[in-house]
Amino acid sequence: MPAEGKVRFHDLSLPDDVLHAIADLGFEYCSPIQSKTLPHSLSGRDITGKAQTGTGKTAAFLVSIITDLMDYPLDVVLPKGTPRALILAPTRELVMQIAKDADALTKYTPLKVLSILGGMDFEKQREQLVNERIDILVATPGRLIDFIGRGNVNLRDVEILVLDEADRMLSMGFIPDVRRIIRQTPRTGDRQTLLFSATYSGDILALAEQWTHNPVHVAIETEHLTTDNVEQIAYMVAEDEKFRVIFNLIKERKLSRVMIFANRRDQTRRLFEGLRKKGVKVAMLSGEVTQRKRVSTLEAFRSGEIEVMVATDVAGRGIHVDDVSHVINFNLPEDLEDYVHRIGRTGRAGKTGTSISLIGEDDAFLLHSLEELIGRKLPCEHPPEELLASGRRASSSNEADHEVAEVAENTSSEAVAIAEETSTLTA
Ligand code: AMP
Repeated sequence: MPAEGKVRFHDLSLPDDVLHAIADLGFEYCSPIQSKTLPHSLSGRDITGKAQTGTGKTAAFLVSIITDLMDYPLDVVLPKGTPRALILAPTRELVMQIAKDADALTKYTPLKVLSILGGMDFEKQREQLVNERIDILVATPGRLIDFIGRGNVNLRDVEILVLDEADRMLSMGFIPDVRRIIRQTPRTGDRQTLLFSATYSGDILALAEQWTHNPVHVAIETEHLTTDNVEQIAYMVAEDEKFRVIFNLIKERKLSRVMIFANRRDQTRRLFEGLRKKGVKVAMLSGEVTQRKRVSTLEAFRSGEIEVMVATDVAGRGIHVDDVSHVINFNLPEDLEDYVHRIGRTGRAGKTGTSISLIGEDDAFLLHSLEELIGRKLPCEHPPEELLASGRRASSSNEADHEVAEVAENTSSEAVAIAEETSTLTA
């Protein structure tokens, strides 16, 4: 018997080849964004969706695209570099993740997926565009513009356009590029447009208005993401206890799938360096790590070779790694919406996760607003005694702090060199 109120993929008259791939992924019921958007998108309507990462929005638009392309095959063969569906996403990580999901969902179909992303493999991507048939193109805006300019991509036959994380495209300054790209596709009304954004500011609403035709608006509220699968803990600590609490958490609880978020690059660097010195298998993702290294670092984290990933919000947002058991907030983010993004890194795909926020003096000021945003209390506790204990190697209770202080004095160039060395090792 199906669970009450839940939509099964089987109820949506999807092609068998798509259902088979969905079953392989272990998805049984549609997530809310899927059950709310799929009936409309499958009937050809435009969608504006308010949904964050972690809600299943990627499968929502991919299942719709794949079903459409399978149900309506073309009787002509399109020239190379001419996709039938185009998905634009702001970051390379997100493009890679979407392409990976698309590969999994198209595996029993003849459809071809290609990703185009900046920072790496220009020549390889060019050759693929020139030589291989594509049905679904997933791209970051900048690199796609390059290929359009060289005549390697032609968007006149795009039937379905997806704009993913439109708010981040806006905040990262990509809108002029996106606009130029959209101009190359058929007009609104002659293509189907699915636009997703975690937030809907006036700017996003205006863009959605221009780029979609009579859309169905679907909103999945933040609470779905934060409260359901993630146990949220807050520890009241002094600033100089934070490192020790994090180290003890990892060691004492034998955590091996952890993401730690900090607001500033220098904090991520210090944490990374401090944990590395203590023998933790740790890597760092921040804006200063090169793209190629970010990719290899992420792969090492996915494979389990790296157990702890320290990241800034910008670097951490696009990361999709299943099975992250704990998210630790070294501090609360200045933009509180990022709290939701951070803790959304765990408790994914129906699993449960834990987030632990370390509330120092500065963070305490934000707590009330955060509670309003997430719509619930976040009781602050004192950390259990064992988390405050100084390490075995520490002869005085201050030693761990000295170590952190020492780390803090490191020059940034040294820390970056170490980060790069680590990522190379994990390549
Ligand atoms: P997304 O919001 O697209 O990043 O998806 C978040 C995670 O949910 C991914 O790991 C997906 O594999 C997983 N997922 C997507 N749809 C479903 C579903 N219907 N049931 C279970 N897991 C899902």
